Amino acid sequence: MSVLVVGSIALDTVETPFGKVEDALGGSAVYFSASAANFHPVQVVGVVGKDFPMADLDLLRSRGVDLRGVAERDGESFRWSGVYSFDLNSRETLETRLGVFADFRAVLPEEYRNPRIAFLGNIDPELQINVLDQVESVELVACDTMNLWIDQSREALLRVLARTNILLVNDEEIRQLAGEPNLVKAARWVQERGAKTVIVKKGEHGAMLVDEESVFFVPGYPLEEVFDPTGAGDAFAGGFLGYLASHEQWSGEELRSAVVFGSAMGSFAVEDFSVARLSDVRMDEILERVREFRSLTTFEVPLPEAVRV
Ligand code: AMP
Repeated sequence: MSVLVVGSIALDTVETPFGKVEDALGGSAVYFSASAANFHPVQVVGVVGKDFPMADLDLLRSRGVDLRGVAERDGESFRWSGVYSFDLNSRETLETRLGVFADFRAVLPEEYRNPRIAFLGNIDPELQINVLDQVESVELVACDTMNLWIDQSREALLRVLARTNILLVNDEEIRQLAGEPNLVKAARWVQERGAKTVIVKKGEHGAMLVDEESVFFVPGYPLEEVFDPTGAGDAFAGGFLGYLASHEQWSGEELRSAVVFGSAMGSFAVEDFSVARLSDVRMDEILERVREFRSLTTFEVPLPEAVRV
């Protein structure tokens, strides 16, 4: 059983202090599937315009990603452009052009209707609901969103939240959604409205998992070369859910490990523009990075002589 994702399939124009790309392959569904495909089969739902360079999607196809749910419609493809600050910690969205996504409603292929995990990637909440309505059985629903939808489609977003098990958002987004500056309180606000597990991503500062019993935190990987932070959040979600999909059980331990795998995939995403690095990373490199996360965060407390046995 696959991981199903609905989200944007985009042409991104991105400027960082290290360079600029125009109309590069991007979008939440693209980053997510490039990442998750390293762990588990993925099925994508989305739409592109007639102007879309379809050959760009071969990169995903070659990783076994199922693209039968990607429709091609008359009109312009989704386009997003953004510029990053010097320290890469903040970005300004210059333009979001929804194009064919503006009123797109998907029809899920028969083979897509019983996924084990569904990820409602960052896109119009009405489209997230439209996809969820066509899913006949699913064990786990996770979703992402962003400030645009929190502003413009709050009511629909709350309906999504009520049907979601895990919400993955960044710190700024959850503060805006809950109207609450404290992140743990904001996560509790979300739990009362649906998603019982909340993951708050904090960019280079790591990610926090808040469920009903505990809070768990993983730092950001201290990369020396960060090239382009675009898509790190979706790559995180892909690593997190791809890891879970490849496991039978989802106990607290698996969820915590999944957060580490998500963080590892987020760190690979930012090493290059678009999905270049996510598409050529090897499993031994992923595992090595996960080992590094362990050594980053493990320490022995030296006990005083008197209490040693
Ligand atoms: P992230 O850096 O994880 O927030 O993801 C960046 C990706 O999200 C880019 O590839 C964009 O194409 C896509 N994106 C930006 N704004 C939106 C939006 N409003 N809806 C859907 N996708 C978006």
